[in-house]
Amino acid sequence: MESTYNRKWAILLVAGIATTVTGIIAYRKYKTQIMNLVDMTKLALVGRTINKIIVHCTATRPSQACTVELIDKWHRERGFDCIGYHYVIYRDGSVHEGRPLSKVGAHCTGQNSDSIGISYCVGVAEDGKTPQDNRTDAQKQALKQLIKELRQAYGDIPVYGHRDFANKACPSFDAKKEYN
Ligand SMILES: [Zn+2]
Repeated sequence: MESTYNRKWAILLVAGIATTVTGIIAYRKYKTQIMNLVDMTKLALVGRTINKIIVHCTATRPSQACTVELIDKWHRERGFDCIGYHYVIYRDGSVHEGRPLSKVGAHCTGQNSDSIGISYCVGVAEDGKTPQDNRTDAQKQALKQLIKELRQAYGDIPVYGHRDFANKACPSFDAKKEYN
């Protein structure tokens, strides 16, 4: 009698744990789907027309540090008033704000006024110059998600790579093909 009773409770306990775990997994999946990388309220206040997204790579070596702060420093040294890109995606897939979206970027000659510039870290081989699409899976996912969210704010705007407007390899893959 007592053992039947215990078994009932054991079954209930296992069922309870299984339900909780399933629930947590489902919730996390849902959270990932609605994950907002960008602050939608900020997007509504840019004060300029956004017609396109242009993807870049930082062209830093894989072993080299790549942060918004460093890029900001390098771009200032080149005479810009701050980092030229609006977003930078690190190797771990984290998305970092660069220049405020309200400010016209400094990333693609002739295309800055109505665009958003996104750069992912690296994009070249260790020699520092051979173009290489060495995006991590996390970066690919983050880039896709960021583009999706920007399109939620600005409509189905086209995505280009820097190389579509300049005689450059940047961003070392065909962004136009991948995101349109
Ligand atoms: Zn570029």
